This record gives sequence, C-alpha cells and structure tokens, in this order.
Amino acid sequence: MMKRMLVAALLAVLWAGTGPTVDLAWLDAYTPAATAALHAAEPSTARVTWWVAGDPHVGHGSEAFPGQHVAKAVADVNELGIADEAIMLGDLVEDRAAFGDIFVREMNKLKVDWTYVLGNHDFDRTTGQPVLAPRYGARTVQGIRFITLSDEVSGSADRNLVMSDAQEKWFWEELATHRDTDSPIFLFTHQPHPEFAKWPQLQEVLDEYNIVAWFSAHKHRWDIRKDAGVGFIQVNIHSIGGVREDYLSSFLHLDRTGDTVEATVRFRNHEKREWIQVDGQDQVTFTVNLASD
Ligand SMILES: [Zn+2]
Repeated sequence: MMKRMLVAALLAVLWAGTGPTVDLAWLDAYTPAATAALHAAEPSTARVTWWVAGDPHVGHGSEAFPGQHVAKAVADVNELGIADEAIMLGDLVEDRAAFGDIFVREMNKLKVDWTYVLGNHDFDRTTGQPVLAPRYGARTVQGIRFITLSDEVSGSADRNLVMSDAQEKWFWEELATHRDTDSPIFLFTHQPHPEFAKWPQLQEVLDEYNIVAWFSAHKHRWDIRKDAGVGFIQVNIHSIGGVREDYLSSFLHLDRTGDTVEATVRFRNHEKREWIQVDGQDQVTFTVNLASD
C-alpha cells in the first residue's frame, strides 16, 4: 500500500508540474476503498473468552481472611483483561451461609458478568440449606449450548451432584430440545460425570445428544482427557482455594469462524500471575462443528 501511494503521489507531483492543477482528493478517496476491500476478503473471526474456575472455598481454614483466594484470583483476572464472562464451578464457600455474602462481594469486583453453580460444600453446616440460590440454566455461546447444573442436596447428605425434581425435569427437557440434532453442548457442573447422580441414566442416552465437553471441578486437581472413553472431552479443573495447591484455574477461548469453533483451554496460576502447563501442555484445543445439515 505504501509503495502504491508513493508512486501515485509522485505521479501527481509530476503531473501537477506539467499540466493543469491536479485534484489530489482522489488519492485520499482511493486508499480507504482499497483497505475495506482487503478486510472484506478475510474470514470473520470472533473470540469469546470465559474464565472457568472452581472451588474457592471461601472461609476455608487455610485462608488468612475469608475470601483471600477468590480475591487474589479476581484481581489477576481483572488485570489480564481477556475474559468476557466468568463461571465459578461450585464449592464457593466452606459449609457456612455467612461466607456466601463474602463470595458474592469478591466476585462482584470482576469487571465482567459472572455466574456460578453450587457444589457439595455450598450448604450451611447447621441448617443444611444452600448458601446461595441453586443456579441452573442454558444459553448459547458462539453457537454452543452451555448447560449449567447445581448440586441441590447438602454435601454431608450426599457428595454427588443431586438435583431437585424441578431442576432434573428442566435438565431432561433442555436436553430433549437438542435430541438427534447436531447442536453441540458443553456441560458445566461442580462434580465430574462419575459423581453426577444421574450419570447412569444420561450415559444410556448419550448417543442421542452432541455433548462435546464437560467442565467440572471438585477434585482439586487437573484431569483433562480428550478421549475419556465417554464420548466427550473431560475438563476437570484445579482449585482456586481449599486444599492442595491453590489459586489455579482455566480460561476457555472460543474462536468462531463460520460454522466452526476452535475451543482452547489455558491454565493459570493467579498467585504467580502466570500461565502454566498441565501434563506438559500449554493448552488443550479441540474443534466444534456447528453445521446442522
Ligand atoms: Zn472443593
């Protein structure tokens, strides 16, 4: 482009010196048109990034003050500035209702919208009631159906992900709307599939749905398997707080080009504020096809 402009300018100067006055405005008009044509030829790609974290365990005995771990993670996410949205995959607090407000206060410092699901520690140890409203729902992100499920039974009664009747009815109906279609689904829960109480029932009908990936936490360790032998990609993430090595979580990038989405999962240490490897990998990638023909 620069060379073409220089040649044109030179010609204009030469022309101006020998003949009638030349209107140079056409040079200005020409350049934006050429630039627009170049951009139109490129495929349009839109990136959406979710911060996917879990197990902050606000109020856990390892914290210097309640919310220490989630506060440090949120500060790093804000400074990075790459997330469009965020989800916290359960064990938001350590078994006490009073910690629920602290969790919400710290998460509200995020500069992006956020949501959560409940895990087995999100029930008050005295009352047995959930510390925050059990959230479940579905929405479409980059053409992929995100389904989130909450644990609704006290962790002391059952550590597995047990849904209420209402949530379970909704879940099967939501799946039914995607039966025998190519509509891809990502699941987001606290417990991984072996500890999902309805896993035996879901497994029997798994072929009818296009569940591409299942994001979970709960184990406080990375367990990422592209071929978990269950037909979907398992992404079990490490913990923000609680036990073992803390301040670890993930980011999910979804880069859509036409009917294809490239999914990339990256791993973060919020304490050291650095990207980390898991199983020797900088990231895990997979392709999601949206075409429904
Ligand atoms: Zn936990």
